[in-house]
Amino acid sequence: MDCNPRSLLYILLLLSSCVTSAFPIIYPPNEVNLLDSKASQGELGWISYPSHGWEEISGVDEHYTPIRTFQVCNVMEYSQNNWLRTNWIPRQSAQKVYVELKFTLRDCNSIPLVLGTCKETFNLLYLETDDDQGSHFREHQFSKIDTIAADESFTQTDLGDRILKLNTEVREVGPVSKKGFYLAFQDVGACVALVSVRVYFKKCPYTVRNLASFPDTVPMDSQSLVEVKGSCVNHSKEEEPPRMYCSTEGEWLVPIGKCLCNPGHEERSNTCQMCRAGFYKSTLGNMECSKCPPHSFSHHEGSLHCGCEKNYFRAEGDPASMACTRPPSAPRNVISSINETSVILDWSWPEDAGGRKDVTFIVVCKRCRGVADNGSISGTQHCEPCRSSVRFLPRATGLQNTTVTVGDLLAHTNYTFEIEAQNGVSSLAPKMRQYAAVTITTNQAAPSPVTVIRKEKTSRNSVSLSWQEPERPNGIILDYEIKYYEKEEQETSYTILRARGCNVTLNGLKPNTAYLLQIRARTAAGYGASSPSFQFETSPDSFSISSESSQVVLIAISSSVAIILLTVLLYVLIGRFCCRSKSKHPDEKRLQFGNGHLRLPGIRTYVDPHTYEDPSQAVHEFAKELDASCIAIDKVVGAGEFGEVCSGRLKLPSKKEICVAIKTLKGGYTDKQRRDFLAEASIMGQFDHPNIIRLEGVVTRSKPVMIVIEYMENGSLDSFLRKHDAQFTGIQLVGMLRGIASGMKYLSDMGYVHRDLAARNILVNSNLVCKVSDFGLSRVLEDDPEAAYTTRGGKIPIRWTAPEAIAYRKFTSASDAWSYGIVLWEVMSYGERPYWEMSNQDVIKAVDEGYRLPPPMDCPATLYQLMLDCWQKERNNRPKFEQIVSILDKLIRNPGSLKITANTTSRPANLLLDRSSSEAPSMGTMGDWMDGMRTLPCKEAFSGVSYSSCDTLAKTSTEDLKKVGVTIVGPQKKIVSSLKALESHNKNGPVPV
Ligand code: AMP
Repeated sequence: MDCNPRSLLYILLLLSSCVTSAFPIIYPPNEVNLLDSKASQGELGWISYPSHGWEEISGVDEHYTPIRTFQVCNVMEYSQNNWLRTNWIPRQSAQKVYVELKFTLRDCNSIPLVLGTCKETFNLLYLETDDDQGSHFREHQFSKIDTIAADESFTQTDLGDRILKLNTEVREVGPVSKKGFYLAFQDVGACVALVSVRVYFKKCPYTVRNLASFPDTVPMDSQSLVEVKGSCVNHSKEEEPPRMYCSTEGEWLVPIGKCLCNPGHEERSNTCQMCRAGFYKSTLGNMECSKCPPHSFSHHEGSLHCGCEKNYFRAEGDPASMACTRPPSAPRNVISSINETSVILDWSWPEDAGGRKDVTFIVVCKRCRGVADNGSISGTQHCEPCRSSVRFLPRATGLQNTTVTVGDLLAHTNYTFEIEAQNGVSSLAPKMRQYAAVTITTNQAAPSPVTVIRKEKTSRNSVSLSWQEPERPNGIILDYEIKYYEKEEQETSYTILRARGCNVTLNGLKPNTAYLLQIRARTAAGYGASSPSFQFETSPDSFSISSESSQVVLIAISSSVAIILLTVLLYVLIGRFCCRSKSKHPDEKRLQFGNGHLRLPGIRTYVDPHTYEDPSQAVHEFAKELDASCIAIDKVVGAGEFGEVCSGRLKLPSKKEICVAIKTLKGGYTDKQRRDFLAEASIMGQFDHPNIIRLEGVVTRSKPVMIVIEYMENGSLDSFLRKHDAQFTGIQLVGMLRGIASGMKYLSDMGYVHRDLAARNILVNSNLVCKVSDFGLSRVLEDDPEAAYTTRGGKIPIRWTAPEAIAYRKFTSASDAWSYGIVLWEVMSYGERPYWEMSNQDVIKAVDEGYRLPPPMDCPATLYQLMLDCWQKERNNRPKFEQIVSILDKLIRNPGSLKITANTTSRPANLLLDRSSSEAPSMGTMGDWMDGMRTLPCKEAFSGVSYSSCDTLAKTSTEDLKKVGVTIVGPQKKIVSSLKALESHNKNGPVPV
């Protein structure tokens, strides 16, 4: 092929088949074109110099889009210098420009006859100017960029075909600083076709990274990077300032920092979009919006949190992601176990914790007073918060476990405990809060021991002591008992003092001697345990004193002697006048015992009113005369020997109105009756003890004559127990018994023998406190329907009385102890009649033969043992009331010991009637069997009936028993069941008659 213009045209026609890309060229986004020859459809208007050098030719590209190309091929001629200059190209913001050339170049070898002149390169040059210079063209002004050689050229194939190769060369130009520039192509004798020329510069294009937008940025010409600050997209906030670097190649590098979507927005395709309804986002961040948690909702887009449904709440610290919750339901299955004045409350977890884990419990203590109705609490209750001294273990609020121990409650008091389960939202829904309540009545309890004793002052013969009230008084402390003895004597001889306050001075001590001392407090519930032994020593006998001080001592001693003599004289004189008077409330009462017995009679003793010449004088000495106008009678509550017993109210001036019982003397009485009636007040008025019925006063100066005593809401103990059969706990019963024993101890200490101690003569108040009542002298037994005449004359309540008192009227505190044993039996059998319907004669006989009442049903073994001890034939072997009190105190302190019942332990063989056993006796004869049964009343009854065999007897029914006088249910059942057992026992053969 030769090198004329036509053959070049042929080259261009071939071009379209050589371009491999079948698609329009898309330039990279980081390249900004300043010139693209292909984009121009019409003439480019570049300057060609000389004019026969480069020529502009139209063609089509591979897509048949028209393009403009330039070519030159003056290879046949020498000294070629053909210039082609572009139009002025504005620089824009470019710092460095790139020139991309696409061209074809024929290798000289393929052109025949051109050797020596043909070239295979051309030059690329440029010229910077601030303005377009039009057609003005100066060769020398241009600077060379590079000599461009073809990588590819026309090459010959084996078949002799020529294949056109398109060359692409890119050259950098820069830095450029003027407003624009020209490019020029210098041909020095090559055959070249310039298919396209593109001039561009590079930039880092607008982008969004990490929710920050970065603008188009033109890189620097130098090697250094351009730092670019990003700005956060809408609804986002900078977490760390966003930055990126734009490289010289137009690439974004090293993104630093970022922006986060605002609450209520989430990241979606490089933007922050609002959360949809039903979703929420409460925090700044690029996490997705979350679905509303259970029991909450969001109706709007862009919610920061979800609102709670009705009756559901969110506590202050609850995260938005947490479900809405509600207060828990009430605790379940509250169980209380009472131990004296403390109670353990146990309950189950609430059924519904409200959806939370922070459930705790609070226990509210209320002290409730109901209108007492025979010991039970009626419907109307008045409650007040418990005293702050009530102790909760571990605490009353914020309990994590389902149990609490409440201590230091008052004895015999009704309490209501409200147990509420609480969680974090309870305070937000006060109306939804629920609690479980339990009502309890505490038992009686003695005060806790005194633990702190201090020695204040010691001298040769005296010591002053003070102490702290017991930690748990369990009631009002009536007084303290101080017992002390010489350490050496080891309690064989001791002294007892009583003090109302918490200090005492012990006088009359031996000098230089060690003493041991114990203190115990007393309340209505009796004595508490003694304090640990406290040792003190008096000062030595001989100690040196200065002559000056000895003078003072001498004066002091002589004046003391004078004072003592004066006091003794006064005492003797006053004693003459007032030998029978008593101090009603002495602050200290001194008792002295030697070898455990009364040694010095300093104790206030009971004075028999009958020793007064005029018994009415005794009444006025021991009883307060009341004005009848202070007394209001309400109703009749019982019948006494001398008249009705009423309930009413007593209002003394400047005192609170109190409930009282009023015993009246019915009209038409004789002088003796009046005396006997008032004798009870004379006796009662001498006593001052919580377990002895208290006398308020008497009305003797107007009619009716009245004895006013404290009111005991539950009446007499026997009927009270029968009314509440099997309703009390063992501890409650023991509490009552302890009260009676404590009252009896007081009476025996006073030297008073009751003679008629029985449950019917014990009164019970609303707090279950038992008090001994019914004081009289000869009439005591006269007015007791239980009293029967003995062979020696006088009436005696046989079933309650000790054998020696029945036999020869030996009434002592020891015979009272026997009666106490019977009361014990009555209490434990809930008011059963001792010896049932046995005749008095049979009782006397049986007791004399050594038979004793059997243990009542479920009677604790210790209590039955105590009964048996009280029923010792030898009266000195019976326990003293002090011992009884201490035995009962031990039981109260250790209620577990009540669990062992007498029925289950081995019992003495000489029981009168064992109602709990149903074993058939294996006796030969009917008489033996009756003896074996120890059913004296029955034996007696059956003795008048003729039975031919045990078979006949075994067919006996309850009705038959009634006919023969066995009317009490206990023995009836026992006998019938024993007979039935006997019947089956005898099936094997007849029993000899
Ligand atoms: P008396 O004459 O002491 O045997 O009393 C007769 C009845 O009156 C008793 O059985 C009681 O039911 C009742 N009674 C006596 N004293 C009181 C009292 N202080 N409080 C309440 N009821 C009493």
